[in-house]
Amino acid sequence: MFTTASRTLLALTLFSTLCARAQDDSDLANASQSNEWLTYGHDYAETRFSTLTEINDGNVGELGLAWSFDTDSFRGLEATPLVHDGILYATRPWSSVFALDARTGKVLWDYDPQVDKSIGWKACCDVVNRGVALYDGKIYVGTIDGRLIALDATSGEELWSVVTVDPSRPYTITGAPRIADGKVLIGNGGSELGARGYVTAYDAQTGAEAWRFWVVPGDPSAGFENPDMEFAAKTWFGTWWEVGGGGTAWDSIIYDPELRLVYVGTGNGSPWSRELRSAGQGDNLFLSSIVALHVDTGRVAWYYQTTPGDDWDFTAVQGLMLAELVVDGRERKVIMQAPKNGFFYVLDRSTGELLKAEPYANVTWATGISKETGRPIETPQARYKDFVSTVMPGPGGAHNWHPMSYSPLTGLVYLPTQQGSRFNYVKAPDFQYQPGKWNTGIVLGNSTELPQRPASEYTTGAGPQNPTPGALLAWDPLAMQPRWQIDYPNAINGGTLATAGNLVFQGTSDGHLLAYAADDGELLWSVDLGVAVVAPPVTYALDGRQYLSVLAGWGGATALFGVNPTGEYKPEGRLWTFVLGGDQNIVPVRGQPLPELSAVPFENEAALLQQGSDLYAERCAMCHGRNAASGGALADLRYASPATYDIFQSIVRDGAYAGLGMPKLGEYLSEAEVEAIKQFILSQRAALLQSR
Ligand code: CA
Repeated sequence: MFTTASRTLLALTLFSTLCARAQDDSDLANASQSNEWLTYGHDYAETRFSTLTEINDGNVGELGLAWSFDTDSFRGLEATPLVHDGILYATRPWSSVFALDARTGKVLWDYDPQVDKSIGWKACCDVVNRGVALYDGKIYVGTIDGRLIALDATSGEELWSVVTVDPSRPYTITGAPRIADGKVLIGNGGSELGARGYVTAYDAQTGAEAWRFWVVPGDPSAGFENPDMEFAAKTWFGTWWEVGGGGTAWDSIIYDPELRLVYVGTGNGSPWSRELRSAGQGDNLFLSSIVALHVDTGRVAWYYQTTPGDDWDFTAVQGLMLAELVVDGRERKVIMQAPKNGFFYVLDRSTGELLKAEPYANVTWATGISKETGRPIETPQARYKDFVSTVMPGPGGAHNWHPMSYSPLTGLVYLPTQQGSRFNYVKAPDFQYQPGKWNTGIVLGNSTELPQRPASEYTTGAGPQNPTPGALLAWDPLAMQPRWQIDYPNAINGGTLATAGNLVFQGTSDGHLLAYAADDGELLWSVDLGVAVVAPPVTYALDGRQYLSVLAGWGGATALFGVNPTGEYKPEGRLWTFVLGGDQNIVPVRGQPLPELSAVPFENEAALLQQGSDLYAERCAMCHGRNAASGGALADLRYASPATYDIFQSIVRDGAYAGLGMPKLGEYLSEAEVEAIKQFILSQRAALLQSR
């Protein structure tokens, strides 16, 4: 018989046993010292620094494969795996979540949110997912169709699901949710297609909405949601709300529990061109900004706009990172970011005061950031109202979503950069917003009759003129220059991981995983995985053994535009996990053989092919690759079977392949226009055949 007291004790014991698996606020607060990987950026500060030292600069060469897991997916793998209580949680394309035994790779559960694939076209940059959040026994995932779903961490069973977006608009979620003060925070993407960005906080237990931060104001005639929007609207002109204004916060959202501030990196303008978006005027708050929000209300505490009046797709959604630095003799709580625009920023995160800003890549849109005003000093060629302007960096950014890391031991930020990023910006002459396509207000085709800006108007801009497309920088955030640098032949490479073993790990788009000495950049270890790595590695320890895991899978915007660094066609994604002395066989991933290429006749008529080329560039290239050449992640249209070309009209106009993610475009493209696109693709097929 149990007394009341012993029954209570038994209940408490059972309760604490059950909750041993749960992760709570104190686990998160102490995550920086954890042997696990508890949140997207490792801990609240998101420095991606692990204190583990079993694998170190003396023995990293002994790393071998512990286990691998085939993800059964053929598009980009961008997720940061989380590891807690011996379970590894990660995501793959179309927002599915899998849980593996972190020691063996054995599948514990696999959850498919059953996304209707006909919405895949809304994803500007592939149907990717960057990972889950973990809190109080629950796993949270944002889905590409805009839902936020809570799963039981042990069983994978769905606990609740909320639709976070207006499904009639082109919103997507690719980012990882974050936990802040019992809430789960999620943003969205869609500024390329036409959207108004926001971040929503939900109660982590119930999914009830706590607050929403709108990045940009809506139509003033409908009234402002709060005084922040009324304030922001003073920096907007024209009828920006018709396309949406943009600012979609699709990646970095981080939290400082001490200051009780949430920091959001906001996206670019929608459309890109400020002429078209805001009558060519205004800073357009809170586009391209780091915004600090009160965690209780979602109201703005301070903001710093990295690119006022964005004209170039210069998102500031890139990874935000918290650190304690002595800046000019004074201890500061800082927040750091390297947004697309090419400048590295260090701000005081209590106040938003700009402490440092210097270029980390060649920047031709500005010569620097004014120390007096905190604003960029734009060059004459920066804005492209009347001329075609060649600007560095371009829309891919000098740094994109690929996470950076920071080691407090070396004082260095390990930053994956795209040094060669550039673009010819041309304002579309007859821009009309149309649902179902990119609405950037930019000419995306090959042909343009618009005048080129005279060479005499170009100035050099700022920053190193590095001839390599990509580089890993070991960036000193106090001296504001690289301490060491690794040049890469390809622009896109993976995110980084720093450890107390004096190591930095990074994967590359040509299919390697590399380890460098964190202090001097010496290459210490490299392995050929066959398939591109764009995701960041993570590390964790179990039973006193340190593991290193990374997802490898080619996809994302660059792959869709037709760049293929490995040359492999549709390689399967794989999760790789290494330990010292691992003895499993490493078999690099290889792609599928391309189909036989037979001759298919086409109408070789110049005006028709030019029309097809322009329409293809505007409607198809962002997924199927420039000039119909696939980057390996999606089907190469030049290799389609003759039978597929026979049903081309039905695929493009009637949605015959909607289940594969191909939109139904009959409302926007006439039969004649679709025929022109088909003839253009066939001409590219013929050119490929002839080149052999
Ligand atoms: Ca963008």
